[in-house]
Amino acid sequence: MADKEYDLIVIGGGPGGYAAAIRAAQLEKRVLLIDDRQDDNGKPAPGGTCLNVGCVPSKALLDSSKHYHHIQHDYTDHGISVESVSMDIGKMLDRKRKVVKQLNGGLLQLFKANKIDFANGRGKLLADRKVEVRPHDGETYTAAGKHVMLAAGSVPFTIPNVEIDNKYILDNEGALEIGEVPERFGVIGAGVIGLEMGSVWSRLGAETVLLEAMDTLLAVVDTDMSRAAAREFKKQGLDIRLGAKVSKATVKDGKVEVHYTDGKGDHTEVFDRLLVAVGRRAASDNLLSDDSGVELTERGQVKVDEHCHTTAKGVVAIGDLVRGPMLAHKASEEGIAVVEALFTGYGHINLDTIPWVIYTDPEIAWVGKTEKDLKEAGIDYKAGNFPFAATGRGLAMGNASGHVKILADAEDDTLLGVQIFGPNASELIAECVVAMEFHGTSEDLARIVHAHPTLSEAVHEAALSVDKRAIHKAN
Ligand code: FAD
Ligand code: NAD
Repeated sequence: MADKEYDLIVIGGGPGGYAAAIRAAQLEKRVLLIDDRQDDNGKPAPGGTCLNVGCVPSKALLDSSKHYHHIQHDYTDHGISVESVSMDIGKMLDRKRKVVKQLNGGLLQLFKANKIDFANGRGKLLADRKVEVRPHDGETYTAAGKHVMLAAGSVPFTIPNVEIDNKYILDNEGALEIGEVPERFGVIGAGVIGLEMGSVWSRLGAETVLLEAMDTLLAVVDTDMSRAAAREFKKQGLDIRLGAKVSKATVKDGKVEVHYTDGKGDHTEVFDRLLVAVGRRAASDNLLSDDSGVELTERGQVKVDEHCHTTAKGVVAIGDLVRGPMLAHKASEEGIAVVEALFTGYGHINLDTIPWVIYTDPEIAWVGKTEKDLKEAGIDYKAGNFPFAATGRGLAMGNASGHVKILADAEDDTLLGVQIFGPNASELIAECVVAMEFHGTSEDLARIVHAHPTLSEAVHEAALSVDKRAIHKAN
């Protein structure tokens, strides 16, 4: 068959690839989007890791389990008593699947509305911007693109002697499909997935133990933040064991036996289910022909320059497949910026102001530099803090743990970083990102009127406290 020709061929239909495809179609380009994911019924399931087995289903379970936990533990102070609360895990999983399915369908409609050719199957980059397309349903063909975008995403890391079967020993996919509350739930890795999925099953009643290899929890944020989070998680019943090196996990009689070593010696634990969440790697396997011209880094990521161009002419790569944080919003914005740069000459993404959120309760959110980063870089800074416990709204809600921390340049007051551990941190971080994108100062945040009573007043007061003039705490 003759090659089909496109302005842009995108391999991978996750948040990076599909957003890029839609933006290119808006710019009236002919686009082919190839994604291999299917649902349990063999139907196309675009949306990538994020929609199918990542951000969206995990947040659905986090929300369900949060409601269940709040009803049981947090409403009596409000004068609400509820008797005989029960949880139907099957129904909770069905709701999650429904949310995902609805969004899969929405994406397919968007592809149609934007006149994007969508192929449900595998794509492989050949030489000279040609792509081999192997549809799940139909004949293999090749297509030629003026540009090709690689957006194949990431897959979980595995560790030696711990074999994923997604029945007892689970990766992120299995952890989203546990059909009953395990009595004992083990997690290897107290990172983002470990803390989120650990919270889900702990709230539903599982005795949850997290085995973390590092000696500090969440080394990506400052110690005061991670300490506050660790205290809160302990209160919630999460048993986080630091410095724990797992050597082996085996399934015996429907239980998982885990062997690990820490500073105190060798230990064995038995769990009903074990989640392995030790990070993710670029999904570059079987994506490139030998003569594609695209080089990989030592870590298997696609090598790109600051404009996301690979070592092959006309081939760009974005999202989890390349350097930078493995986040859905980074992938989408990067995909859109690259498409705009290719077809209009202008496109921009600032990797220094990508917000991070961990959806525990309270949430943890941050943007920019930490105190650790600034000390290492020898940058003089000022810090301001404010606790949610000193806000009227936090207390009125009955949810006032945590604090906001703002870091600003000691000389010119430019905002350098913000960390928030507290209620609705995921939403509160947005104004800090905007302020940083506009090169704002802590004084800018301090002089902006924030509605009362809101949680955003903690951001306002933390900004005031940079200059030691917070109103509702001693400076
Ligand atoms: P992906 O979403 O991985 O999409 C790539 C797609 O390409 C996949 O569908 C894959 O099957 C397909 N593909 C791969 N190779 C080929 C090929 N050769 N041919 C055809 N198709 C191919 N991020 C957040 O920002 N917020 C969150 O709350 C969040 N929660 C998460 C929770 C979990 C449990 C996990 C695992 C991840 C979470 N993430 C979250 C991370 C987020 O999912 C990723 O950063 C994001 O999905 C990356 O987008 P992407 O488009 O680069 O790749
Ligand atoms: P992670 O990097 O966040 O955490 C992995 C943890 O496992 C680390 O703390 C690491 O020290 C630990 N670890 C590594 N090897 C170990 C071992 N052998 N034994 C014990 N501990 C070990 O990775 P993750 O939790 O798997 O998540 C992967 C990525 O997916 C995240 O980094 C993030 O980019 C993305 N994600 C984002 C969100 C979100 O935005 N809310 C949610 C989930 C996942």
